[in-house]
Amino acid sequence: MKRVKKTNVVNECSCEQCGRVWVPRLKKPNICPSCKSTKWNQPKGKK
Ligand SMILES: [Zn+2]
Repeated sequence: MKRVKKTNVVNECSCEQCGRVWVPRLKKPNICPSCKSTKWNQPKGKK
């Protein structure tokens, strides 16, 4: 019987601007560590 513990859920963030995927230390990172974009979670080209 296998038991998978999912207590350590890693929340990965992916930047919509540059495609960077990282694991933030904060729950809600303000900027992308790669391109420093504050709109990393907003799809680009959105009007
Ligand atoms: Zn980025």
